[in-house]
Amino acid sequence: MKDDKIEHGALLIRYADGSVGASKITSGIHDEVKMRADIAPGDKIIGYIHSHTYDDVVDQRLPSRHDFETAAELRKNPHADPHLLLYILDMKTNSVYEYHSGQGPSTKQVGPNITKDVIKP
Ligand SMILES: [Zn+2]
Repeated sequence: MKDDKIEHGALLIRYADGSVGASKITSGIHDEVKMRADIAPGDKIIGYIHSHTYDDVVDQRLPSRHDFETAAELRKNPHADPHLLLYILDMKTNSVYEYHSGQGPSTKQVGPNITKDVIKP
């Protein structure tokens, strides 16, 4: 949706039983998507994904500086895996790009497009 300025996000969790899932999807305006999850003992936050709205100028495939700051904060959480990954769903290319949360504070290098890894034809 070209005019949708709302971003959506979720935390990715590896549960104590080994299964993997996502928290409830939350929404907010740019850079203010608050994500929460119910974490039980043994659960680990292994990543987070959020959407970037359509923009004619900015390359929205890239995480923002704020995204890396959020990731750095998240890694301090005792329930977070220190190697947690950051996924950007870019609404312009309709694709998901993967980043290591520690590779910031910013990057001009577009991460691997993992869209075809997660969506079966
Ligand atoms: Zn972002």
